[in-house]
Amino acid sequence: MLRVGLSGGIGSGKSTVAGRLAEHGAVVIDADVLAREVVAPGTDGLREVVEAFGAEVLGPDGALDRPALAARVFGDERALATLNGITHPRIAARTAELIAAAPPDAVVVHDVPLLVEKDMAPLYHLVLIVHADLDQRLVRLRDRGLPEEDARRRIAAQADDQRRRAVADVWLDNSGTPDVVLARVDALWADRLVRYESNVRLRRHAPYGPPVVVPYDETWPAQARRVAARIGLAAGGRTVEHIGSTSVPGLPAKDVLDFQLGVRSLAEAAELEEALAQAGFPSRGLAEDGVRHEGHAPEDWHKRLHSGADPGRCVNLHVRVEGGPAWNWAIRFRDWLRADAAARDEYAALKRELAERHRGDDTDLGYAESKEPWMAAATARVAAFYRDGQTS
Ligand code: ADP
Repeated sequence: MLRVGLSGGIGSGKSTVAGRLAEHGAVVIDADVLAREVVAPGTDGLREVVEAFGAEVLGPDGALDRPALAARVFGDERALATLNGITHPRIAARTAELIAAAPPDAVVVHDVPLLVEKDMAPLYHLVLIVHADLDQRLVRLRDRGLPEEDARRRIAAQADDQRRRAVADVWLDNSGTPDVVLARVDALWADRLVRYESNVRLRRHAPYGPPVVVPYDETWPAQARRVAARIGLAAGGRTVEHIGSTSVPGLPAKDVLDFQLGVRSLAEAAELEEALAQAGFPSRGLAEDGVRHEGHAPEDWHKRLHSGADPGRCVNLHVRVEGGPAWNWAIRFRDWLRADAAARDEYAALKRELAERHRGDDTDLGYAESKEPWMAAATARVAAFYRDGQTS
């Protein structure tokens, strides 16, 4: 099962996108629909709302008078907290029930208007944000019967584009005609979501192609923050660090995000295997780091390796003993490259040369092996960098 979070500002076209995903076979859970269901006539949710706010929040037909309730809680934090205390647990329980009832190979799309505001992004394997420019949203909402004044007020109360961008694994621009965004959804479904789902279910990581070194990508840090938040949540809040070449600003690299996750022992790492797999990072088993330093036992270089299941985002996750030699080495190596421009240029040149030499390879193993001598020689340079007060 794949969990996809879908959000976007009001009038952006979220429902349009959700509808298309449903046509492809996604199980769409609409948070707005559930919010209405849990206080529908005859529910104990509605009974509790009436107990808390009085019969004046009911219409003549006995159903909830939403505008009356909205007016009652508007600007009153305690009243709003009371209302949320009634509705939120019920919505959460119903959502969990619907997810549990979905088939094991489902792509579950959770359509949540307040996904960003409620910091829900790390719960999902992938977050889709639908965007349209403000003016277009106002026109579309007006055509849907919402006066501009009301639309503006609701938009102002929602998260801004910057916050939405920060959580978007996929940013769907719906500023054009509907067919443009629908074609993008079709491609996303076929090229990414279906494969991602089967990878998660079958505990397969996304395939690695031949090594291709690309220029530094300014979006890597933001991408890394999103992935790290997912890993951290799956691993019960343990330390997650972005490491490797993509963590060094300015350095060309293979488009693979590397992370290390801190554990107290490799036995503890093994216990996290299932949670990480379910979060989209299946295990590749026990592995060994190539770099060796004097004065350490071979097992100091053992780790558990996981990789990402998302075919649209290559990820390697090294689960290492936090504060141990392998953990410290990864951080020191990164920080040395961040600090030393000459070392960075030298490493960049080596990477380009090796990628060229291994261009015809099926995997990146040959490339990785050819890098070892330079890496081994770097240990002395990194040690000197730290010994000499971070100037080399
Ligand atoms: P949301 O669910 O994000 O509030 P909707 O999907 O309901 O937004 O879209 C808002 C309105 O705009 C709807 O009436 C919808 O039919 C219309 N709409 C959606 N996408 C487009 C588009 N690309 N061009 C024109 N109108 C659109």
